[in-house]
Amino acid sequence: MHIDARTLEDGSLIEGDLCIVGAGAAGITMAVEWSGRSQKVILLEGGGFDLDPDLQNLYRSEIVGEPYFPLEAARLHFFGGTTNHWAGFSSIMDPIDFEWRPWVPHSGWPIGRDDVMPFYARAHEYLDLGPFEYDASFWAAQHADNVLLPLDDEAVWTKMWHFSTPTRFGKKYRAAVVDAPNVHLYTHANVTQIEANEPVTATDGLRVRTFEGKEHRVRARTYVLACGAIQNARLLLSSNERAPRGLGNQHDLVGRYFMEHIEMPGARLALTARRPMRMYQFHYPESRYPSGELALSAEAQRENEVLNGTCSFRNAPPADEPLQGMFDRVPPDAVERMRIVEERDRAAQDQTEETVEGAAEYPTQYELFTRQEQAPNPNSRVTLSSERDALGVPRTRLDWQLTDLDKRSIRRFYEIVGRETGRSGVARVQLLDWLTEDGWPSFLGGGWHHMGTTRMAASPREGVVDPDCKVHDLDNLFVAGSAPFVTAGAVNPTLTLVALTLRLSDHLTNTLR
Ligand SMILES: Cc1cc2nc3c(=O)[nH]c(=O)nc-3n(C[C@H](O)[C@H](O)[C@H](O)COP(=O)(O)OP(=O)(O)OC[C@H]3O[C@@H](n4cnc5c(N)ncnc54)[C@H](O)[C@@H]3O)c2cc1C
Repeated sequence: MHIDARTLEDGSLIEGDLCIVGAGAAGITMAVEWSGRSQKVILLEGGGFDLDPDLQNLYRSEIVGEPYFPLEAARLHFFGGTTNHWAGFSSIMDPIDFEWRPWVPHSGWPIGRDDVMPFYARAHEYLDLGPFEYDASFWAAQHADNVLLPLDDEAVWTKMWHFSTPTRFGKKYRAAVVDAPNVHLYTHANVTQIEANEPVTATDGLRVRTFEGKEHRVRARTYVLACGAIQNARLLLSSNERAPRGLGNQHDLVGRYFMEHIEMPGARLALTARRPMRMYQFHYPESRYPSGELALSAEAQRENEVLNGTCSFRNAPPADEPLQGMFDRVPPDAVERMRIVEERDRAAQDQTEETVEGAAEYPTQYELFTRQEQAPNPNSRVTLSSERDALGVPRTRLDWQLTDLDKRSIRRFYEIVGRETGRSGVARVQLLDWLTEDGWPSFLGGGWHHMGTTRMAASPREGVVDPDCKVHDLDNLFVAGSAPFVTAGAVNPTLTLVALTLRLSDHLTNTLR
């Protein structure tokens, strides 16, 4: 059932069993899981079914620290959320990503990869990712040109990626949500305040505002925040009527440990002889065929005391071409970005895999493009700005901070890749100059991935949510998405965040009867 919150009488009270705030990848997954059940589900979405520049403007933020994408272009504020323009690159985190690593301060999840693994398989279906198969030798056997580089996998291995079409959650799941009699989707329903009870031990209700000045209240037995990592932190911090530092923030942890993936060119690779490189070629957006990246083994990470990282192969640009930064090239205009993405989606649908397979000659020169986890860092954080948005909510102030370990890990990664490709006689690798210079270059880049901000920990002194994603301080408030991530791994986050949402959904099934 769909209700436009603007059409309700001012001051309406909306009541249900489970209330989900935000209809992006996480919120829609949760709503679909709960469709057809006996409980009444309220799904609150701040936007409508299409992009609206005024609503998008609610995301405009202050950026301090490292440069970053304008947030009003980096997240989308309408039904389907940021999946309306995500790219669909997906892979699973490694067991070591969940472990405590003595050389990575603040690492270690209270759950292991085995706890998430069954949900990864289910998440694959939500994201249309094809067979749940990550063994590179399986994919190597599928095509004569799928040849693995002969490297010592004790040091460097081939990590497989799957590519979603990319699934646009707003389009794909709209009917499933709107037609479910027990799911009540409210659009144009921006949550502006989470209200706590007097002793601040539980959530009492939510305040919802529309652009037209109406204010409604929502009451449920259980609440799930699924607004994205930055907006979840913003909402908790600005819900400060009963808890001056914000909800869930007794230990000053909400908004801290904001993480991104560091994505930028790191080296050039020259093959010593022409060989089929289909296995390592990006097939996106032409096809959904999985491909591989080189990744550092867990043993090599331990031995070298570095972070997890991978690199993809891209056709090498001319050596004298200046490298361009990502952040200042992004138009802050989300409408323009959506137009580009829709065009790309249309073009991808017209392509077939044959265009890729037709390439008889594989290049010998490549740019190695880094994708590396960022070390969890309490000083990398989301706080509130003194400026407010059109609904009266303080805007976000993003202070993205990197550490020496981040840079040292990238350099060591390419040194090991160079050593291993050299030893096997396959290729020569040349590190880019910035890796041996001080600081970060102007072409520092990120993956558009927002993680951390309400990290998971067994103890409230170390994390905002517990291993079930429940806010430690509050009995009935849960967080879905990538905000509970403790570390980022070296893979894009959406598959993992959908898997964690499915895990949370199963947990709530057992508690919300
Ligand atoms: C250009 C780009 C490319 C990307 N490519 C990839 C990729 O290849 N692979 C990958 O894994 N990830 C990728 N991502 C990241 C991916 O889009 C996100 O990880 C994912 O969408 C996050 O899902 P979410 O549900 O947590 O948040 P979102 O998808 O952002 O959804 C949050 C929802 O909450 C709503 N909302 C927010 N605040 C409120 C409020 N106060 N009240 C009510 N509703 C609210 C929003 O309108 C939105 O619908 C990409 C992102 C971008 C921008």
